[in-house]
Amino acid sequence: MTFQAFVQAEPRPWHGLRDDWLVRSFVRRRLPPAVAEAIEPELADLAALAAGPLWDFQRADRQNEPRLTRFDAWGNRADHIELSPLWREAERLAVQFGLTAHPRERRYGPWSRLHQFLLVHLFHPVTDVYTCPLAMTDGAARTLLASGNQALIDRAVPHLTSRDAGSFWTSGQWMTEATGGSDVGLSLTRAEHRDGTWRLYGKKWFTSAATSQMALTLARPDGNGPGGSGLALFYLETRDAQGRLNGIRVERLKDKLGTRKVPTAELTLDGAVAHLVAGQTHGTRSIEPMLRVTRTWNSVCAASFLRHGLGLAEDFATLRFAFGAPLASQPLHRATLDDVDAESAGAFLLAFALVELLGREEGGELDAGEAALLRLLTPLAKATTGKQAAAVASELVEAFGGAGYVEDTGIPVLLRDGQVLPIWEGTTNVLALDLLLRSDLDQGLAALRRRITRACGTLADPGLQAAGTTSLAAVDGAIDWHRATRDPGERQRAARRFILTLGRAFELALLAEHAAAIAHDDDGPAARQACLRFRQLGVGQLPGGPS
Ligand SMILES: Cc1cc2nc3c(=O)[nH]c(=O)nc-3n(C[C@H](O)[C@H](O)[C@H](O)COP(=O)(O)OP(=O)(O)OC[C@H]3O[C@@H](n4cnc5c(N)ncnc54)[C@H](O)[C@@H]3O)c2cc1C
Repeated sequence: MTFQAFVQAEPRPWHGLRDDWLVRSFVRRRLPPAVAEAIEPELADLAALAAGPLWDFQRADRQNEPRLTRFDAWGNRADHIELSPLWREAERLAVQFGLTAHPRERRYGPWSRLHQFLLVHLFHPVTDVYTCPLAMTDGAARTLLASGNQALIDRAVPHLTSRDAGSFWTSGQWMTEATGGSDVGLSLTRAEHRDGTWRLYGKKWFTSAATSQMALTLARPDGNGPGGSGLALFYLETRDAQGRLNGIRVERLKDKLGTRKVPTAELTLDGAVAHLVAGQTHGTRSIEPMLRVTRTWNSVCAASFLRHGLGLAEDFATLRFAFGAPLASQPLHRATLDDVDAESAGAFLLAFALVELLGREEGGELDAGEAALLRLLTPLAKATTGKQAAAVASELVEAFGGAGYVEDTGIPVLLRDGQVLPIWEGTTNVLALDLLLRSDLDQGLAALRRRITRACGTLADPGLQAAGTTSLAAVDGAIDWHRATRDPGERQRAARRFILTLGRAFELALLAEHAAAIAHDDDGPAARQACLRFRQLGVGQLPGGPS
């Protein structure tokens, strides 16, 4: 029997700097020319690695997962976790590209965070969420620096921000217990102070980066009251000088839907020696700098997954034929990808607006209004982009048809790994309530409104002006709802719609502002289209508000 064999040509990722209209135009527009010129070669190198060798490595490594050996042959506890080869390479590259070093080196002053996170954007989708330990490491450095605990700063921060693979440390963040990750005030871990030493006893239910050299964790000093204020923030090193675990047992690794390369463990702390970071109470307050940083990483990673997936989907659309033409030329498929482009561009600009503020804050450049905007944007960007990551990744998988559902194409992982982004670092509901109950909410809303008004002032094109008007109307509608709605139950029930309205409205304004700024460049039409499309996809989520 003879038949005509067909083999589909394989889609490849794009070069995340040169081939992505959004990233290349953002670098040119947002950074001072001298900084853009200085960092572009490094960005281009990492983008080339991500589009070629790392993408191939990621797929070849697909079935390797972290392995826990709990006991050796003679019954001694080993608690050893073997990481996958891709993760070991990811650590080497993270150190080489200084992914946690930039905020401390501050080579480009207030632009250093943009520099760092542009690299993270290119690195993240092809390294199987190695960004998880990096985010916590960056967050731990900031938390220790904010604590003013000089002994711990001197001991740990040089390792966390090192550019030398031999001395680089990652940090875990052990907060969640079986009693709850949202309400960590329920934590049961005890801290006992004896003979001048603190020892921790309890169980940590979700600890990613279980192979880290150190961790920041919460525990309740004996005698303290209940709730978050009775918890203290502790620093511990996971092993002693001889390599023995510090009163820690690794009970098992979680069998998870995604992030399968991330060794997320259940740990028992049985007398782990620890050090207070900043006093014996209010640990949940002391950990806030960590969340500020990890939520920024989460937002960048959400957009990064989507731009990477879009690059693959665009390539597939040129290679795949149906009904006599490539998918790329079929109006409905084109429209589907244009929607992904618009959603992911909005997510990217929102995430990087947050990054820019963070960098300027660390340079002491923010006025009171901008500081309030930064506080508002941290949960807002994390919640909005996290939801987009999961929803749009589903659309991306479908754009590949059946191939998108087949593991060794490298596509399904986008959906499985994207789904964690709305869950960890605060679920959407938790962030929505956090935002709604803030004492400085009015200040933050006023700052957001001023920022959107400023964006609208740059718009000359009528289509972009209409987008600006929609954005402002949605924010005004949300502010009116916030002022008019007093019933606490009703406020909570709509909190998620409130935060997502604000997030999408700001994304629309940023898209319009970006399109106006590059209107005369080659990428102007793509930016304009993304903005108009995003407006059609809808902004307002509150009942009765503008759409
Ligand atoms: C892959 C993975 C890795 C993780 N790694 C870590 C880690 O390294 N360190 C760490 O500390 N944690 C980690 N976590 C835990 C994560 O942060 C928590 O799962 C998350 O914070 C939610 O906590 P929970 O699972 O206890 O859910 P719960 O707190 O039980 O929440 C369940 C649901 O109830 C909702 N909810 C809770 N309270 C309210 C409310 N008042 N109003 C409305 N809705 C509410 C939540 O939004 C959620 O949808 C990890 C989780 C995952 C999935």
